[in-house]
Amino acid sequence: MARRSKKHAGFGGQNKEQRVRIVQNADMTSKIIADDSAGYIAHEVRDALDRPLHDLRISLLDRCNFRCPYCMPETEFHDDYQFLTRSQRLTHKEILQVAHVATQLGVSKLRLTGGEPLLDKKLPELVRGLAALPGVEDLALTTNAILLAPIAAELAEAGLHRVTISLDSMDEQVFRTMSGGRGELATVLAGIKAAEEAGLSPIKINVVVERGVNDHTVLELLDHFRGTGHIVRLIEFMDVGNRNGWRRMQVVPSRELLAKVQERWPLRSLDRNYPGEVARRYQYVDGQGEIGFISSVTEPFCGSCSRARLSSDGMLYTCLFATQGTDLREPIRNGANDDELGDILSRIWLQRADRYSELRRSDVAEHHALSKVEMYRIGG
Ligand code: SAM
Ligand code: SF4
Ligand code: SF4
Repeated sequence: MARRSKKHAGFGGQNKEQRVRIVQNADMTSKIIADDSAGYIAHEVRDALDRPLHDLRISLLDRCNFRCPYCMPETEFHDDYQFLTRSQRLTHKEILQVAHVATQLGVSKLRLTGGEPLLDKKLPELVRGLAALPGVEDLALTTNAILLAPIAAELAEAGLHRVTISLDSMDEQVFRTMSGGRGELATVLAGIKAAEEAGLSPIKINVVVERGVNDHTVLELLDHFRGTGHIVRLIEFMDVGNRNGWRRMQVVPSRELLAKVQERWPLRSLDRNYPGEVARRYQYVDGQGEIGFISSVTEPFCGSCSRARLSSDGMLYTCLFATQGTDLREPIRNGANDDELGDILSRIWLQRADRYSELRRSDVAEHHALSKVEMYRIGG
């Protein structure tokens, strides 16, 4: 089966329009997307707020070799913590079935995440299977990169398009604090270099900015990556889950950071690459590359959110801040075929009305009290 070329990344992009027929259904709730050259057909679904499903994030496992305090604080995720067992986790075959069905509903972007996805020893095999699915235009991996250097070339060869690497500071001490005392900065940098050599680009560098912890090192980090072609994205510390002790005062609003960066290097804003892109993009006026701001707390972007998330135990979540998901593992293990699984997925998506960040903005107090799914279970 043919895989689409990377050039076609971005739903509705010019190249794709040339190759793909789109037919809107009479009831306007779904449309048929057909790419004749790839023998591919999808029935696009739209949720209750008219948002399509374009993006599936797949969390491979809930374990991690870091203990970033904003995600898996050591005090909560200690040696005795009960992570999922192998039999509780979806197998690669089961993940491939969900991904395949998702592409038939219009998903064109897949992201592998976790926990730490590189702890999955057979990752290249899964990448190969996902890359071969018709309709997959963009296949990316989010990783802390500590295990990336030895495997980057193999992942690229298996069909991975690009990587996003989480790196919160170029200051050794601050980096160690932000990784929960587990990470080695030099090893992460070696991972980035290996990804670059393997052509896993554009490489994005995710930086969670926390007031009083790493905000004073942001300019140094930007300086390091200026001119490399890698895109640094400054992310507001989010209230994902209930275990990271999030307080609004720890959030550095993107507009504050933007002003700080502008003072040092003038920036020019760029258009979004595609509808639903989460980062607000800027370019250094002096031509040294691009940076992005992800402002889920102060400037929510729920209106264009087209992402679903699959946890490693097979729960499907339709929001990063979800309090409930739908179990896909049980129907899969009871033998659901693609059509049956597709019906379940489209029903979930058609009912979706999530917009947590917009509600948080208006301080709907009860939302803060709810028990939300943790980030390490569904990835970023
Ligand atoms: N372990 C991999 C990594 O760190 O890249 C993948 C999983 S991690 C949960 C995915 C992304 O979520 C990372 O870029 C991480 O920085 C981000 N993240 C985790 N907790 C966060 C929080 N509370 N606020 C904002 N971003 C967060
Ligand atoms: Fe692990 Fe990634 Fe969470 Fe850090 S952000 S603890 S690396 S899953
Ligand atoms: Fe999407 Fe939920 Fe984030 Fe809004 S809060 S952008 S619906 S994941």
